[in-house]
Amino acid sequence: MKRVAIAGSSGSIGTQTIDVVLAEPDAYKVTALAVASASDVIIEQARRLSPDVVVVTNEEARRRVEVALPGVQVTGTLTDVVDVADVVINGVVGFAGLSVTLETLRKGRTLGLANKESLIAAGPIVQPLRATPGAQLVPVDSEHCALHQCLRSSMRPHTEVSRLVLTASGGPFRGRSAESLVGVTVQEALAHPTWKMGPKITIDSSTLMNKGLEVIEAHELYGTSYDNIDVVVHPQSVVHSMVEFTDGSTIAQLSMPDMRLPIGYALGYPDRIATPFGKIDWTTLARLDFEPPNREVFPCLDLAYEAGRRGGTAPAALSGANEVIVEAFLSGAIVWTDIARLLTRVLDRFSHTIPHTVDDVLDADTQGRRLAQEELAQ
Ligand code: MG
Repeated sequence: MKRVAIAGSSGSIGTQTIDVVLAEPDAYKVTALAVASASDVIIEQARRLSPDVVVVTNEEARRRVEVALPGVQVTGTLTDVVDVADVVINGVVGFAGLSVTLETLRKGRTLGLANKESLIAAGPIVQPLRATPGAQLVPVDSEHCALHQCLRSSMRPHTEVSRLVLTASGGPFRGRSAESLVGVTVQEALAHPTWKMGPKITIDSSTLMNKGLEVIEAHELYGTSYDNIDVVVHPQSVVHSMVEFTDGSTIAQLSMPDMRLPIGYALGYPDRIATPFGKIDWTTLARLDFEPPNREVFPCLDLAYEAGRRGGTAPAALSGANEVIVEAFLSGAIVWTDIARLLTRVLDRFSHTIPHTVDDVLDADTQGRRLAQEELAQ
């Protein structure tokens, strides 16, 4: 029986992790749940799953949970989930999730990573901990999970792999011209064709910033140079990414869009779970299309490549600035085309350094956010 901790159990990754665990009751058990403040959700989950540890970081919410769950260990420290687990699913949103990543790797456990900041912003801090004996980092993101699966086919990935190819759905504005995108509404940008996600990541998907940040993540995960990571637009979101080998072969991973597959992959690794999620029905899958991304209409893709190539604190600053600017778009303060325009200015003004501590990374994030605020005020 594998013991599973879920950090961020009220979110989309968290609730889908519970789905997968409940589909495999003989193989997995939830032993820890953690949220920031969603007390009603975690109370219901704890009653259903009987975990050993329940973490609620917000103090007021924690008091409500303590009263509702007598006899259950309720704490306020996110990293308390690690000790009682063999595999930790980190679905925490934001920098708060970084502590879970660091502690899970430090303790030599398997980390199913869905927290973006851990690798995009804090890659240089997280990397050395991956060498801890027993530590495994398995990405919970459809593209990186696909690459992980494709790379398993190689005995010598360092010499045999020539290119990673990340697929992108292209978002709601695929095929549009730059001029036609000036006046798009928040509602139009939120209408993602294939994946149902939160508003921030859906906007990132409409600008291709999400894909750009995933390129940085792929570089951190697999050590592939930026020159050898490509993006191809694939509107059906069935091919989740591909690896091209030196002999011309390409191996791709295909499944219907369903996040429970990458979650189950991380839970089971190195084995595969027995429940199929996202199985393909070949009688209805009519076609798979591919096209290059339009880098002029979607400049955020290359902004992320640039930040990744600069390295150090540049991705942290870009990611922080992007959050502020996307927030401004969602609130109606700027138009969609301003997102890339303002981010270009932020990146031009930011001078990156090599981060040595978590605080260095947080500083870069703060600085990125401040530069974004300044650009927004112009
Ligand atoms: Mg993704």
